[in-house]
Amino acid sequence: MKRALITGITGQDGSYLTEFLLSAGYHVSGLIRRASTFNTGRLDHIYSDPHDGGSRLKLHYGDVTDGTGLRRVLEASMPDEIYNLAAQSHVRVSFDQAEYSADVVATGTLRLLEAVRDYGENTGRRVRFYQAGSSEMFGAAAPPQSEGTAFHPRSPYAVSKVAAHWYGVNYRESYGMFVCNGILFNHESPRRGETFVTRKITRALARIKLGLQEKLFLGNLEARRDWGFAGDYVKAMWMMLQQSQPDDFVVSTGEAYSVREFLDAAAEELDMDWKSVVEIDQRYFRPAEVDYLLGDSTKARTRLGWKPAVNFRELVRMMTSNDLELARREETLRQAGHVGATVLG
Ligand code: NAP
Ligand code: GDP
Repeated sequence: MKRALITGITGQDGSYLTEFLLSAGYHVSGLIRRASTFNTGRLDHIYSDPHDGGSRLKLHYGDVTDGTGLRRVLEASMPDEIYNLAAQSHVRVSFDQAEYSADVVATGTLRLLEAVRDYGENTGRRVRFYQAGSSEMFGAAAPPQSEGTAFHPRSPYAVSKVAAHWYGVNYRESYGMFVCNGILFNHESPRRGETFVTRKITRALARIKLGLQEKLFLGNLEARRDWGFAGDYVKAMWMMLQQSQPDDFVVSTGEAYSVREFLDAAAEELDMDWKSVVEIDQRYFRPAEVDYLLGDSTKARTRLGWKPAVNFRELVRMMTSNDLELARREETLRQAGHVGATVLG
């Protein structure tokens, strides 16, 4: 049985990847942060109490800012494959918390690579390492962007992801480590964090439709993104690590839409007009914007045989119907007297 270690297992991608690896027969270990409240909501449906026995999913407390802890988790989990998904992953927040974002995203990756390097030398095992790179690394580069496009990052998050990318390349070249950089374009799902624009839109429009909220405040509606489905994208991560040689791959749908077009599609699914409820708020604009991301994933399609199964319209439908169901539950709770109760997906 193969063993995988996932950092960022409690995030959107971590939860889909865990489902995928468990279904492929893996034993999965995950790094979770200590929090004052439960932070495993995205894993609850697949997690079983270790006391019950037989579980192939094990969670370890840790943090990518704590190198000693990472080394302990490596020794305890003995992985064949590592998926480094941990990140302060919000671009806007990275402008407010630049040093912290760099510590987690860039230096966090370096700490893990250093730990894996020593672990490999001490045990003789060649661990395969996936690094969660981002299309944000392309930033201001003209579309379409592919593996050959020069990076031009436009936020502390993106600069840190570029550093993490090059740490990966450097450890591959210096120590012969099996490191693959995935350069994934935006991918969404009903489990997407509530402050990313797609989920913010589907959640707010659903709540407005049911009278639970009045307005939706957004920033730049003209930015264009290549949005795919997270469930499709985690398969590409795994496929990269099954290759005979490590390499870097762009993963994208090859279609881009503006935030305005996402609003149109979500409102159409919910049979409502967004123009009377959306207001523009300057606080959601970024000091430097990424205007247009459109991926060329020819390499992943030809070398890995990967292609997305869910298209833009299906993604919007999946997210709006999920958020409408959550809003209905919230409405029921309110009607039952639970004033202010919020049900998040
Ligand atoms: P996400 O939902 O924000 O999840 C991030 C994960 O990282 C969470 O499990 C979070 O834990 C964990 N984390 C944050 N800081 C940490 C720390 N200091 N130590 C350990 N864990 C930490 O992100 P996602 O959408 O699943 O994305 C997964 C990865 O792919 C990220 O690296 C992201 O930057 C990258 N990426 C995402 C996209 C996309 O469109 N989704 C595109 C390209 C690249 P908590 O749950 O405790 O917060
Ligand atoms: P990103 O591509 O990783 O920054 O993903 P986001 O979902 O956070 O943002 C996608 C695009 O939507 C960016 O160009 C944002 O400027 C734009 N956008 C417009 N309004 C908002 C908003 O209210 N929140 C967020 N998160 N993004 C917004």
